[in-house]
Amino acid sequence: MRITRALQIGIGALAVALAATGCGGGSSKTVTEHAKDGKLTIGIKFDQPGLGLRSKDGSYSGFDVDVAKYVAGKLGVAEDKITFKEAPSAQRETLIQNGQLDFVVATYSITDQRKEKVDFAGPYYLAGQSLLVRSDNTNITGPESLTGGKKLCSVKGSTPAQNIQKNYANDVQLQEYDTYSLCVEALKSGAVDALTTDDIILAGFAAQSPGQLKLVGKPFTTEKYGIGLKKGDKESRDKINDAIEAMINDGAWKASLDKNFTGTGFQPAAPPQVDRY
Ligand code: GLU
Repeated sequence: MRITRALQIGIGALAVALAATGCGGGSSKTVTEHAKDGKLTIGIKFDQPGLGLRSKDGSYSGFDVDVAKYVAGKLGVAEDKITFKEAPSAQRETLIQNGQLDFVVATYSITDQRKEKVDFAGPYYLAGQSLLVRSDNTNITGPESLTGGKKLCSVKGSTPAQNIQKNYANDVQLQEYDTYSLCVEALKSGAVDALTTDDIILAGFAAQSPGQLKLVGKPFTTEKYGIGLKKGDKESRDKINDAIEAMINDGAWKASLDKNFTGTGFQPAAPPQVDRY
């Protein structure tokens, strides 16, 4: 009998604790509050070379990783106090809303639709949608040549997939995977004819497979990369914007792009203007 009562109290306390943290077991503290506690959980991509990549030894590299570390540093959190978590394209809003991470630096375009669910600091980079094909391909030269039932890969929940569906999909077979690295495998094996997403992402993959893949055509959208965080956390958004500006102004921004893309043949864009909406 006593055991049952203790159990009931225990379960009650657990329910209260879960309710306090919001659904999904995440935290309801702001980014600034977490930074004051000395720790941050940051969402990045794990499979995008040059941007967000987790290596076999467990280390992380890429421009998004450098931006994440720089911003964390400005918020007073050292690199070894960051927990990186994978934030696949289709899960980014949910991960932020549930408080399962503090912010997302993951080739994440600022869009009005996403702004209904999350806030964005930035932009910290301006990319553009483009196409990647096998090096021996000659019949795909831009989005208008995606005709005749060609197979095109992109990622669920991404802006490029939505754009193709809306503007070019009449005659193309769009296949949506969970990650871009899966699209790259499909492209190499011949299961798809092309992969579409942002130029800087495609350049990272092309550099990883020299001579096998090439970018074609000119970028045909503007993708403003933002740092996604919980809606309404204005204090933290302002601080993150300050950090992005500092990274651009002190040379760390360019140094990271040089480190990650020099020698790939890709010319990164000029620094953007932070938008303080
Ligand atoms: N920037 C685009 C987006 O946020 C494509 C890249 C990605 O899926 O991460 O949807």
